[in-house]
Amino acid sequence: MSTPHIGSTEDTIVALATAPGVGAIAVIRLSGNDAIKICNKVFKGKDLEKQESHTLHYGTIRDNNKVIDEVVVSLFVAPKSFTKENVVEISCHGSPFIVKQLIKVLLAQGARLALPGEFTKRAFLNGQFDLAQAEAVADLINSDSAASHEAALNQMRGGFSEQIRQLREELIHFASMIELELDFGEEDVEFADRDDLKQLINNLLKVINALIESFDLGNVIKNGVPTVIAGKPNAGKSTLLNALLNEEKAIVSDIAGTTRDFIEDEINLGGITFRFIDTAGLRETTDTIEKIGVERTQQQMKKASLIIYMIDMANDNLVDVNRDINKLENLGIPFIVVGNKQDKAQPDLKAAIEKIKGSVLISAATKENLDTLKGRILEVVNLDNFKTGDTIVTNIRHYDNLLKTRNALMDVLNGLDNNITGDFLAMDIRQSLHYLGEITGEITTDDLLANIFSKFCIGK
Ligand code: GDP
Repeated sequence: MSTPHIGSTEDTIVALATAPGVGAIAVIRLSGNDAIKICNKVFKGKDLEKQESHTLHYGTIRDNNKVIDEVVVSLFVAPKSFTKENVVEISCHGSPFIVKQLIKVLLAQGARLALPGEFTKRAFLNGQFDLAQAEAVADLINSDSAASHEAALNQMRGGFSEQIRQLREELIHFASMIELELDFGEEDVEFADRDDLKQLINNLLKVINALIESFDLGNVIKNGVPTVIAGKPNAGKSTLLNALLNEEKAIVSDIAGTTRDFIEDEINLGGITFRFIDTAGLRETTDTIEKIGVERTQQQMKKASLIIYMIDMANDNLVDVNRDINKLENLGIPFIVVGNKQDKAQPDLKAAIEKIKGSVLISAATKENLDTLKGRILEVVNLDNFKTGDTIVTNIRHYDNLLKTRNALMDVLNGLDNNITGDFLAMDIRQSLHYLGEITGEITTDDLLANIFSKFCIGK
């Protein structure tokens, strides 16, 4: 089956490498055998084909004799470049018009437009790094918090890949011993000690289980902690969200139930992204639009990893509060009880809420005690594990493959317990090797590569 991602690696590709739009400088990147030759044809300055790798050259780029821009050209001669091919980076003035004209003349000289992720794909195919590292390039570009940045950087630098590779090597050793036994056919020889193999599989399962478990954390690091602010209409949910976002993104209103839909937004606390979901409240209602809101609120709450339950201490009553807290306890999702409107609180209600374990009293409107609340949020989410520097799986494709590897390894263990024959054992081991190999790209298919790299932007 052919895939849409079939760019030939013979071609020289070109794309804008910097963000589209106006900027001080834009960088256009060419990669391929003819990158330097193609650029040289339109560049007026030194003869680029006679220059050393890793040098910069000032000159002009022309369309026939018309100057398009004054540029600085950086040369990277194969294999000392990101793609391991000849690479030219042209720094020009950051006007979309200039960029378009420059790319046009380069296309006319024989380059073709790069497909999404094609530079990174070439780097992978030419052995610059493995597949997990290539995927980390995309994560690194998209990282928007200290935690996601650190996880992506660690993966790009090969921490995760190294761990997977070691696991594979140990397994390959056993697989080849067992396959050797098969060559001896009828003779009853055992090169691969079954007890040692069992021990190895158990060790592998330990590592793989730890990686699988790390995905919960990895997912949170990459995608943010889904957080719901729940509470009755007028409790001050939008005010709190706004205070946290420091901008008017939710509707603040005196009318009960005006916040009818979800406004999702992100804030960064202590290097962790929290994805806030503002909801329409928990009140029973007859108003249809709002009723939908309430139902959706309840659905959203089940998807949350953290619930901030807000109480209007000026107007609420303890009976309702206790009933809601009871409901929240049954949901089984970590929650923080927040007493709002400290400035106008009923003394009895305030005293009762103060006594609730882990509660925080605030005034969303005056931003009083927001720092205490932020600290409490970080405490509840507790990402301390992350700081140990352990490998964390953030990619769902890797997670999927680790689950499949675990199943295959369990088959090997069961096989050993049931004394199955070497050929079946070898099959199960090969299966685990296959899934592990797909993570780092030792085993790939065109479809797999197309799927991964088509998610990149053009120019990456
Ligand atoms: P929501 O329905 O839960 O989103 O509540 P809003 O954020 O819209 O707030 C309802 C009303 O309470 C608004 O008039 C806010 O200005 C007011 N409010 C919010 N926080 C406080 C607070 O700390 N003190 C006082 N006095 N009023 C507040």
